Amino acid sequence: MKHPDNFLMSPPMQGEWITVRSESAVRGSGKVVVPDQPIVGFIEGDGVGPDIWAAARPVFDEAVAKASGGRRQIHWWEVPAGEKSYSKYGEHLPDSTLDAILKAVVVIKGPLTTPVGGGFRSLNVTLRQKLDLYACVRPVRYIAGTPSPMKRPEDVNMVIFRENTEDVYAGIEWKSGTSEAHTVRTFLQDVMNVRVDEAAGIGIKPVSPSATKRLVRRAILHALDNGRKRITIVHKGNIMKFTEGAFRDWAYEIAREEFADRVIFEDDPPPGWDGVIPDGKVLFNDRIADSMFQQVLLRPAEYEVIATLNLNGDYLSDALAAQVGGLGMAPGANIGDRAAIFEATHGTAPKYAGLDKINPGSLLLSGAMMFEFMGWREEAALVVEGVSAAVRAGTVTYDLARQMPGSREVSCSGFGRAVIEHIRNL
Ligand code: NAP
Repeated sequence: MKHPDNFLMSPPMQGEWITVRSESAVRGSGKVVVPDQPIVGFIEGDGVGPDIWAAARPVFDEAVAKASGGRRQIHWWEVPAGEKSYSKYGEHLPDSTLDAILKAVVVIKGPLTTPVGGGFRSLNVTLRQKLDLYACVRPVRYIAGTPSPMKRPEDVNMVIFRENTEDVYAGIEWKSGTSEAHTVRTFLQDVMNVRVDEAAGIGIKPVSPSATKRLVRRAILHALDNGRKRITIVHKGNIMKFTEGAFRDWAYEIAREEFADRVIFEDDPPPGWDGVIPDGKVLFNDRIADSMFQQVLLRPAEYEVIATLNLNGDYLSDALAAQVGGLGMAPGANIGDRAAIFEATHGTAPKYAGLDKINPGSLLLSGAMMFEFMGWREEAALVVEGVSAAVRAGTVTYDLARQMPGSREVSCSGFGRAVIEHIRNL
């Protein structure tokens, strides 16, 4: 097999490329074709990134070897990003890294520092925007044994699809007192007859039908492919009618246009429906965002797949992560039609960098998510089970140990080794 030679770091000499199924690239389901010996990209990340990667990689290799009886193997390809890339190539995010991610299609990454000052943009935001990774996907499920503030944390089992490219996070804003803010304010006053305080900073909240529909389509396909029974659109459309309200309307539109035979609408059920959701179908409903924050606390078992806008999704995913044990155990991915990046959802935790201390759980569970995306369900289940068994056995890193009386605190790499032991014994 011939590899392209225009990358900063050469891909491994062995292994084959993962490709995107052509029909799914059009439809936006992101289905990929995965050979038995795939090349998968990785970005170690900054701060604690190398610690968690060193702990997680052998776990992934073990799960693959065990699930496939040695038939499958990942050929890891390090693609440069962050401080490591800067020290080697003088750039935090070289263009060839973006090419490499598109070539690899599937990439797993640790956290990246956003250098302070100099107007430096977040590398994570840049990756999302340049690769059009429009869906931030955060599964939130309870790993048995994890300390939780909930009475019944096992009822929490949801996947959040957060729109990643629009909303007040689009970065269209002007600082108070600048000539730009003055220009926008004058336009609003003179042309639109809207008064804004003279000293106000101003931000714009774009929400479009195309971005909404591709996100909701992906959420519906996820529910159908994974036997999930409910999809909930979360919005604040009662107040922001033409953005959040429109998001709701466009979500219903695509459900009607493309999935009419697979969806039951809660507010317009079929005549005589007995309330049981048949296999192969999903119940489609929507909730106002503030009420949803109550619902996920009081009635979490009633929610499975959530599709929402950028800001709501940001808040909701962290609130849900807290219900099942916090950031150290929260996986995530940013997915587009051409590539998917699976990542630890926490930051670089600089005070723990190089101490072999931090919890690698978030990266491990992101790897399980990556295996699911690749269609390697058994590998995914082994990683989740291995993590769960290690936690149940009370072998945990400091963050969980301080909440679990009687547990045995282990290092970051020690947790990885414990997970491998459990996978071997499963
Ligand atoms: P952070 O790195 O997430 O760390 C904040 C605190 O959260 C840590 O001190 C630790 O709390 C806890 N924590 C984080 N990860 C943990 C883990 N794996 N296991 C156990 N505890 C964990 O947040 P930050 O200090 O605000 O951000 C640092 C840098 O990371 C910034 O440069 C930021 O831009 C970047 N960042 C990157 C990403 C990304 O790449 N996706 C995301 C967020 C932030 P205790 O001290 O209480 O133990």
